[in-house]
Amino acid sequence: MKRAIYPGSFDPVTFGHLDMIERSAQIVDELVVAVLINSAKNPLFSVKERVSMLEEITGHISNIRITSFNGLLIDYAQEVEASIIIRGLRAVTDFEYELQIAQTNRIINSQVDTIFLTTSLEYAYLSSTIVKEVASYGGDISHFVPEQLMDRIYAKYR
Ligand code: ADP
Repeated sequence: MKRAIYPGSFDPVTFGHLDMIERSAQIVDELVVAVLINSAKNPLFSVKERVSMLEEITGHISNIRITSFNGLLIDYAQEVEASIIIRGLRAVTDFEYELQIAQTNRIINSQVDTIFLTTSLEYAYLSSTIVKEVASYGGDISHFVPEQLMDRIYAKYR
């Protein structure tokens, strides 16, 4: 049984995240998508809202579980018995930071490995920050997030 954990802020979830989720779910037996509870980041959406949005748009995937976690990712991976951490690489700017984190995690727990998926080209530019920036000016975010989430995102800026 290969279980992987895909952690992130998902504030809000984008088509880039969904693409990563769909692809990783095909690689492993079970995928745990874990929303990071991190008050320091001052998120737009509560953890509960982010978990619900993820649940709504991943209903078509059967081997998936959406959770949230506090503290160190590597500890949470052990708690849910995941042997793989999935991260996405969009550009070289992601690389240095992600490499450092992955190596640190290996030192703390060598039983858990990090696997990187390269972004699909059509989403290489896409981030939650971009979605928030465009939505805050009332711009069209239909290329960035699933339709059923759009109103909820605009509502945060009304
Ligand atoms: P974090 O704050 O942990 O970076 P994010 O929610 O921004 O959380 O991203 C979670 C993961 O998804 C990260 O590994 C990030 O690189 C990846 N990711 C974000 N956007 C995309 C995208 N457009 N394509 C591929 N991977 C992405």
